[in-house]
Amino acid sequence: MQTGSQLRLQVVAVLLAIALAVPQTLEARFTPTHGSDAFTHHQEVEVGQKAAAEASKQLPILPKSDPITQYVQQLGAKLAADAPGEAWPYSFHVVNQKEINAFALPGGPIYVNLGTIQAADNEAQLAGVMAHEISHVVQRHATRAATKQMRAQVPLEILGAIIGNAGILGQLAGLGIAFGVGSYFLRNSREAENEADLLGTDIMYDTGHDPRQMAVFFQKLEAQGNAGVQFLSDHPNPGNRVQSVDKEIATLPPKHLVEDSPQFDRIKQLAMQRHPLTAQQIQQAQSAHQEQSTGVISGSVAAPNGSLQTLNNNAFQIGYPANWKAYGDVSSSVTIAPEDGVAQNAVAYGVIIDAFQPELNMSLDEATHRLVAGLQQSNPGLHTIGNDELIRISGQEGRSQEMIGASPIKQGTQTLQERDWLVTLQRSDGSVLYLVFIAPEKDFSKLRPTFEQMLRSLKLW
Ligand SMILES: [Zn+2]
Repeated sequence: MQTGSQLRLQVVAVLLAIALAVPQTLEARFTPTHGSDAFTHHQEVEVGQKAAAEASKQLPILPKSDPITQYVQQLGAKLAADAPGEAWPYSFHVVNQKEINAFALPGGPIYVNLGTIQAADNEAQLAGVMAHEISHVVQRHATRAATKQMRAQVPLEILGAIIGNAGILGQLAGLGIAFGVGSYFLRNSREAENEADLLGTDIMYDTGHDPRQMAVFFQKLEAQGNAGVQFLSDHPNPGNRVQSVDKEIATLPPKHLVEDSPQFDRIKQLAMQRHPLTAQQIQQAQSAHQEQSTGVISGSVAAPNGSLQTLNNNAFQIGYPANWKAYGDVSSSVTIAPEDGVAQNAVAYGVIIDAFQPELNMSLDEATHRLVAGLQQSNPGLHTIGNDELIRISGQEGRSQEMIGASPIKQGTQTLQERDWLVTLQRSDGSVLYLVFIAPEKDFSKLRPTFEQMLRSLKLW
């Protein structure tokens, strides 16, 4: 039996042990996690390199000899040297594009738009964007998201056989998985964003850049609205960015951190004299090139024409490509599609817009899940990919959910994969307006900019 004093002694010993353990937990760094990833290190690098080769054909990338590229490469190398986890072959590229954006491909290639450099107020802000992108590589976010989708599409035992045969790369296309520019898997979940912010904070701290500037820059983009929309749709705000960066900094020993450098000021000045291309100009050049080489989107279907015309409905207004057609009247559901986009009475390319009245007090989340379940019932084999995301359309809160299923289009005897992008929006009368953007998987990334443009033009009455 223990006496009172023995027991007290044990309590003191435990408290002492806790007290001794505290200094070790003071510097609490974000630990890279791998989660579930079907890709080996080698495969990760390989799919990233393949996507990088495509990106260099699709995007106007500044030459290596450009002083702006050289500066970004130096800054990137410094940041990458402090990245934890596996050693990836990082490379840094500047895209001669006006919109503020940056993205990372699996296994190391990182792209920063010239517009991002023009918008950054100091080196720490640019370093913040880059450290954040490096963190997506460290965390293998793209291939982990792809793994999740593969698990949803393919029975576990077959997936095991695919991975076991090391034939994963050959199977990706069949599963609708690609990591090219605009790929679904380069769009990060809010959870992935939070991880990239925290890990990015640690990396910046190590290189001596003030990590707060990363959060300040993201906030600035949000305040700008449309100008930063591409960056924020690929890197959605996980919520309280500034606070969570501050919390992470508080776990690190105080250190002298800088915001700026003379090199950055010189490069920014140079960047301000340039006139980068807009996304639309790049897309036009790209589709002109495609028309020459492979024909427009899948041969017979009209590629969207640059300018938008407006459709007015009782419930909403939306812009759509001038060479597409709207079906339905002002009070009913509407289908907007290229003339050849409707096959066998089903929409293969285009968008369906409709509304429904959810049960009383049903949240938008719940209503969205009900709608997805309904769509799955009428389209057997339709799978959701990733979780639904919070989005804002003309100041209105909404949900975004991507799905993959069978397309009504057949190629020979083979049924094509189709991607459906569902967006739901709560209306002031309690009803839910929803849009389903549809295209065969192989063409979806080509149509995504048009779909996004349409969504941005949407106004609810
Ligand atoms: Zn991100």
